[in-house]
Amino acid sequence: MHFIITLISSSISSGHNRVASRLLTAKPQRSTVPPFFNRQPPSMAGSEESLRKALAEKLSAVEAQGNAVRALKAAKASKPEIDAAIEALNNLKLDKSSIEKQLQAAVSGGDGDGALSREAFRQAAVNTLERRLFYIPSFKIYRGVAGLYDYGPPGCAVKSNVLTFWRQHFVLEENMLEVDCPCVTPEVVLKASGHVEKFTDLMVKDKKTGTCYRADHLLKDFCNDKLQKDLTISAEKAAELKHVLATLDDLSPDALGAKIKEYGITAPDTKNPLSDPYPFNLMFQTSIGPSGLSPGYMRPETAQGIFVNFKDLYYYNGNKLPFAAAQIGQAFRNEISPRQGLLRVREFTLAEIEHFVDPEDKSHPKYTEVADLEFLMFPREEQMSGQSAKKIRLGDAVSKGIVNNETLGYFIGRVYLFLSRLGIDKDRLRFRQHLANEMAHYAADCWDAEIECSYGWIECVGIADRSAYDLRAHSEKSSVPLVAAEKFAEPREVEKLVIAPVKKELGLAFKGNQKNVVEALEAMNEKEALEMKAALESKGEVEFYVCTLGKNVPIKRNMVSISKEKKKEHQRVFTPSVIEPSFGIGRIIYCLFEHSFYTRPSKAGDEQLNVFRFPPLVAPIKCTVFPLVQINSTRMLQKLFQSH
Ligand code: AMP
Repeated sequence: MHFIITLISSSISSGHNRVASRLLTAKPQRSTVPPFFNRQPPSMAGSEESLRKALAEKLSAVEAQGNAVRALKAAKASKPEIDAAIEALNNLKLDKSSIEKQLQAAVSGGDGDGALSREAFRQAAVNTLERRLFYIPSFKIYRGVAGLYDYGPPGCAVKSNVLTFWRQHFVLEENMLEVDCPCVTPEVVLKASGHVEKFTDLMVKDKKTGTCYRADHLLKDFCNDKLQKDLTISAEKAAELKHVLATLDDLSPDALGAKIKEYGITAPDTKNPLSDPYPFNLMFQTSIGPSGLSPGYMRPETAQGIFVNFKDLYYYNGNKLPFAAAQIGQAFRNEISPRQGLLRVREFTLAEIEHFVDPEDKSHPKYTEVADLEFLMFPREEQMSGQSAKKIRLGDAVSKGIVNNETLGYFIGRVYLFLSRLGIDKDRLRFRQHLANEMAHYAADCWDAEIECSYGWIECVGIADRSAYDLRAHSEKSSVPLVAAEKFAEPREVEKLVIAPVKKELGLAFKGNQKNVVEALEAMNEKEALEMKAALESKGEVEFYVCTLGKNVPIKRNMVSISKEKKKEHQRVFTPSVIEPSFGIGRIIYCLFEHSFYTRPSKAGDEQLNVFRFPPLVAPIKCTVFPLVQINSTRMLQKLFQSH
């Protein structure tokens, strides 16, 4: 049953371009919803390649025939002969433009026969969303600020519905511990997490005007533009550009700079030359309190608030693992050149889960509940070899080791269920594995839930196994051990490595540097320590690199004792691993808007009607009661129930 919830009466035909809008509930019945926009079917990639080849052949045939016509004219051939050659030329030209049209449709997603192109579809959706106050540029009367948006009444209602469902699907269902931490964060926290040093994007500057651009976005735009607008590029060049697009996130700063130079990419607005790429930190800096002596940042993610509370949350959970904590809140990123509406903004709502698990046991008790789900997955190898995403049973991906472990697989499955129940089209949802360079060095495995919209495939949820990195980093910086313990039923005898630096000897030898040398010795792993022990026993002295001093120092036999001792242990103490699903709520909502939107002509054929058909779960208005209005009531009712 379709249930109309509201009709925006006064502006039905008074909007821009005489566009009318309706807000509808009722789950989309896929068979009756007109196509979202003409998407490239899976087979199109192959046909695009053959179309490029066919076009190249046709272009040389046209050139050859043109030469033939000119030669006939120069040789003063007979009129019928020249006419026949011209007719052949015209036929070739017709063939050429037909192939061009097909190729254009293949690369741009429009069929040229009336179906909406991506841009036209987006414009219709965004116009309606902004006009109906789903969202609006912030500070509009002052011309707005790039990357900042307000949600209006229906937008707030949708957002609230999405967050309610998120809480129900994850926090309540999984018994997660929800927290709510401040946005203003002291510098020390973000130094420990690595954000102060590394939370950067690569930027290039217009060498003359100083305007800044995100380096990877310029390369991406160049490749997309070339593929879509330059129909004469060879199939080989098209394949190369596609490979660059597929591996963009894997490029090192040097490789990115080299590609920008190789393709002659210049500043989009001025065509001036660009600087080499260099890192720009995305965090908004502030200071806490009036003295200006306590630096801070607006948090770029909510996760750190959970990590720094680990000890208390673990205790609250009865000192038991695994458990998960969750947080919904604002995150701030000073994006270099925000664009694409709600998709890349400078302040946005994140909903994050940190699931703490024993690194030696990443099984999940509810894994079997999701193992049979089958959906589009895009493993690293498929991306590198230019293939496309394919449907894989989640259980197979885990058992074959494509997905690193059961808990990560479990969350991938739960995210899939969350997004599809919300109303995201399953055929436009895929899980893409991070490429090797894209992933942080400490991460065990990462997958992004990507949703296809008119801007292409957009990362909406990141699901990462971050190993023990975050808790270790905060333990080291704060000197508060963020660890968990597994109590043994019976004490166990274990062999332990004991590194005991002899501080007196080290002090005599290294004076003020003693502390750095002691710390470096204690930080050795088992392999390094045993190698040092063997070398000291055979040679009496070894060269030892102390990274905090940035140099080698000589260590003698009397300066450190290294041994293996047997001990009885009652528990195993370890730093838990973290599996983190991180949801960009604005991105999910925008994709949901697009997946719920379609246009259709009015019955009279004189208007384009813009329609949102939301699933009841997210619909901003569930039900509306209309007063009976006498004037024109028949016409109004007719309009209301047109096609429903
Ligand atoms: P990240 O921590 O970079 O993996 O981001 C987590 C999630 O936040 C992503 O999956 C996106 O959905 C979302 N996100 C990241 N940056 C932005 C942004 N500038 N605007 C809106 N959403 C974002």
